[in-house]
Amino acid sequence: MLIDPSPGMETFVTESNQSIMETYVIKFLSILLTSGLRYFLLAGIPFLLFYFLCRNRFKRNKIQSREAKRTNFVSEIRNSLMTILVIAAIASLVLFTPFRKLTLVYDQLSDYSLWWIPLSVIVALIIQDTYFYWMHRIVHKPRFFRKVHLTHHQSTNPSPWTSYSFDLLEAILENMILLILVFILPMHPLALMSFGLLGFLINVYGHLGYELMPRGFRRSIWFQVLNTSVYHNLHHKDFHGNYGLYFRFWDRVMKTEHPDYVATYDEIQERRFGKDSLVRSGWSRGTWLLLLPLMLCSFSGSDGADRILGKWISEGENGKAVVRIYQADNGKYYGKVLHALDAQKQLELERKLKEKGKESLSILKGFVHAGNSTWNKGKLYVPSRNLQVSGQLQLMKSGKLKVTGSYFGVSHTYFWTRYQQ
Ligand SMILES: [Zn+2]
Ligand SMILES: [Zn+2]
Repeated sequence: MLIDPSPGMETFVTESNQSIMETYVIKFLSILLTSGLRYFLLAGIPFLLFYFLCRNRFKRNKIQSREAKRTNFVSEIRNSLMTILVIAAIASLVLFTPFRKLTLVYDQLSDYSLWWIPLSVIVALIIQDTYFYWMHRIVHKPRFFRKVHLTHHQSTNPSPWTSYSFDLLEAILENMILLILVFILPMHPLALMSFGLLGFLINVYGHLGYELMPRGFRRSIWFQVLNTSVYHNLHHKDFHGNYGLYFRFWDRVMKTEHPDYVATYDEIQERRFGKDSLVRSGWSRGTWLLLLPLMLCSFSGSDGADRILGKWISEGENGKAVVRIYQADNGKYYGKVLHALDAQKQLELERKLKEKGKESLSILKGFVHAGNSTWNKGKLYVPSRNLQVSGQLQLMKSGKLKVTGSYFGVSHTYFWTRYQQ
């Protein structure tokens, strides 16, 4: 039997619901304000510094020579407002609603050791990197790209404002990681906040448009493990390769790292610090021990196979040319002629390419790293004879690349040297 509530009771229930609603709204607005402030301060200050106040001072750090467009900044900020709203909604759901009881979020610092707070932040970043890599690969598939990821890629020359510039669907997908983390990792709200802050700071650095890594970074093991601003910038510039968020791990394992990454990074650091900055030195024993687990994780790309990547001066019967060796998605090594060193030969090259309707001349195809500084099973194209022959590459101790191909029963050997600009 239904009993009508007394008038007094009705008022009590309504008031109580109203005050709960008010609390939710206030908490939601406070988190909205916090994530908004975080965006405008942490992206705004670097933007002011690098794009206005200290622009000339950081000229050498600039990754792409062209300037980012003002109209881009406006649309990036407009898109980011939507992302801030999504972040506030997901964070409020996790922290301020009864949903929180279902999660592993804990309030008492004494529930876990204090060291778990920083460690949980690092573990969360590693989990996020894995989630991001695979989500990113999926949204790059042609059937999803336009609907989900195109907005972020409208910035081919990113700025700090690009950090949150997403389509609504991508903003939700990106921030779903918070919902995943709270179910698999016990985290204190302090750790959650630090995770959000650190993640955003790295994100701003990745989209900064300027490389800031110190000189010694190239020689340290961290270079093998962590992403840089150049890393993500290449992804924006070329739309493919370098899908990882914080670490090089997944790109190296899945062979999706941009073939120009190391050469481009070296070019910029060389401009900042001179050639010495790139010389590899031995790592201290302490670093080895400290980073052994990370090194084990990133073993797949550090077998020396990448020493062949980058620009070389080829020497053949057709004169000297600059060739870029890169690793394709299939893990094999290829080489393309960028330009001839002699102006006359360059004109000839351009004419030949035009005749064949090709964009570039490929002269190394499908080489496989066979260890011992050798790459074989590939094809070598000899332009002067218009021949494609089996070839072998060997990196000499002197730093030269020995390129061997046999045709007409005779073995021909060329020595290529590193291209220094
Ligand atoms: Zn992308
Ligand atoms: Zn990006």
